[in-house]
Amino acid sequence: MISQYLMTAINTTSLDTLLLPEEALQRSLKELADIKFALDESAIVAITDQRGIINYVNDKFCEISKYSREELLGQDHRIINSDYHPKEFIRNLWTTIASGKVWRGEIKNRAKDGSYYWVDTTIVPFLNAEGKPYQYIAIRSDITERKRGEEQILEQAALLDQAQDAILVRDLEQNILFWNKGAERIYGWTAEEATGKNAGELLLKEPSAQFENARQAVILKGEWSGEIHQIRRDGAEIIVESRWTLVRDDQGAPTSILVINTDITEKKLMEAQFLRAQRMESIGTLAGGIAHDLNNVLSPIMMAIDMLRLKTTDEASRKWLEVLRSNAERGGNMVRQVLSFARGVEGERVALQPKHLIKEIVKILRETLPKSVEISYDLPDDLWIISADATQMHQVLMNLCVNARDAMPEGGSISIKAENTFLDESYARMHIEAKAGLFVVITVSDTGPGMPPEIQSRIFEPFFTTKDMTKGTGLGLSTALTIVKSHGGFINVYSEVHKGTQFALYIPALDAPGTVEAGASQMDLPRGKGELILVVDDEKSIREITRGTLETFGYRVLTASDGTEAVGLYAEHRSEIAVVLTDMLMPFMDGPATIRALQKMNPRVKIIAASGLTAGHKAGEASLEDVKIFLSKPYTAEKLLKALAEVLKPS
Ligand code: FAD
Repeated sequence: MISQYLMTAINTTSLDTLLLPEEALQRSLKELADIKFALDESAIVAITDQRGIINYVNDKFCEISKYSREELLGQDHRIINSDYHPKEFIRNLWTTIASGKVWRGEIKNRAKDGSYYWVDTTIVPFLNAEGKPYQYIAIRSDITERKRGEEQILEQAALLDQAQDAILVRDLEQNILFWNKGAERIYGWTAEEATGKNAGELLLKEPSAQFENARQAVILKGEWSGEIHQIRRDGAEIIVESRWTLVRDDQGAPTSILVINTDITEKKLMEAQFLRAQRMESIGTLAGGIAHDLNNVLSPIMMAIDMLRLKTTDEASRKWLEVLRSNAERGGNMVRQVLSFARGVEGERVALQPKHLIKEIVKILRETLPKSVEISYDLPDDLWIISADATQMHQVLMNLCVNARDAMPEGGSISIKAENTFLDESYARMHIEAKAGLFVVITVSDTGPGMPPEIQSRIFEPFFTTKDMTKGTGLGLSTALTIVKSHGGFINVYSEVHKGTQFALYIPALDAPGTVEAGASQMDLPRGKGELILVVDDEKSIREITRGTLETFGYRVLTASDGTEAVGLYAEHRSEIAVVLTDMLMPFMDGPATIRALQKMNPRVKIIAASGLTAGHKAGEASLEDVKIFLSKPYTAEKLLKALAEVLKPS
């Protein structure tokens, strides 16, 4: 609009006028400006000489700059300079107009009262007979409101980027229009890569009816929420809690869908673990109750059979009674098995050297398993003694080995290894079933097909089996776990599809003088020299035990219960803090976000990241290249102290 006025002004000014002596032209231009720009009330006009000294301003210029005409005339435009634009911007303005060309751009200016305003500015040079600019006319329009809107959007976008959640906007055909930093972190795609892509194709493993139904629901009702299984860039599956809101235009027509996704994969895993534990407990109670009643049913039957045998003389009837007796006995045995898993087994406890037991099992296995299954073992000379029921331990180990054999019908290898280990308070607080102390760990590994996570999570459930109905009752592993628990121990399972499976039985070692000394020698660990360590974890008990351990071993400790507190403490004690030990999974601001914030404050900050996630979930974290060490939870004091010593080692 303004340039149009200007062009008309120039067109209506004859060439003769333009080539008038400068003084006359200056006057006529001013008059022209007054007349022409008075027509457009919004035009902000100024005329300067070739150095930029103002010699004309219209009323609108005075109004927006809040300077009087007297204050402006004879001044350079610097009077309204806001210091917002880089020198390069101004240099470009000047080189353009000084070479006789029109310059157009958006400038942020400062008014007399210090407030800022934005103007869309066109500067037209007027050339003298030698073709040199001797006047500049600047015509502007006020664009402050639009710019504020833009600034607000930028601020909001920056805020959206701070969010831990993935925030995305999609059009009604599911094409991604907006993708915040949270989405980059959760899915691994950058905004550039994701924008324009179809959300269904990018984030789902396969087309899902749920996704389509949700799309229809949000268009119909304006909102939708639910859990969705999605995939990340690296192919890992995640579960998100998703909230969709329909966005409408001024006329109320739907234009897009705002989606906020929270990654709840880890939460779901924990929930599943908890539910499993509860289910096991209730199945145990139920099975125990039924078994008890069945015993009451079987006892009179057994007694009646004995009575009948005394009275019956004919051979045929005695045969039938024998069938009844052996079946009732089998039933009784089955009940005992169920009871042993449900209640835990008392058994006899004797001091037992696991080496003998393992050697015996290896001998039996070598005699009975097909030659295609290779058996090996590895036992240290100084293996500690455990207090155990030999028959039950035999049963547990045999059960694991038979499972391994069944998993490898084509052959493979089974290895049994035993070792001494010391689990400290740190480990115990992080592992639900573990207690601190000295343990003998017996590991049975196979090279079978491994188990996918969904099977792994159920193997200790009673009656769960992947074997043929005739081959397995589904009680083997649940009984093994009950037996190990009744010995004060626990079982860790590690299995990878196509690679194999490993069961580690942790059985408490007997408190003999030798074992205690051996355990104590493990406490001979690297010590700190008063270095300050910032420990970040949302679990109070972990913060406390870690503080206790570190202080005992010569470190000073600061603790924070979440990322924001950690960043605050780091800002305060930055020069003192030697290492930050942070959990990866915390509410509000999680480990990766905390690490990024700390790295912004100090790119050389030393970080140890602790995580309870399994290897498959580490992919996202691994992108945090600057993390010095990953500690997997639960960790022992020994692992922690060695990790610290490693990080603090002068490089
Ligand atoms: P400066 O040092 O003045 O400028 C930075 C660079 O620009 C210099 O290094 C040099 O390369 C170049 N430059 C500066 N002055 C000249 C010159 N006279 N001749 C050739 N090159 C030069 N500024 C605003 O902030 N807001 C405005 O609305 C605005 N409107 C203008 C309208 C007109 C018609 C003209 C001619 C100039 C306008 N300016 C405006 C520019 C203003 O005169 C200042 O140059 C600018 O404010 C930057 O000032 P500075 O002291 O930060 O940097």
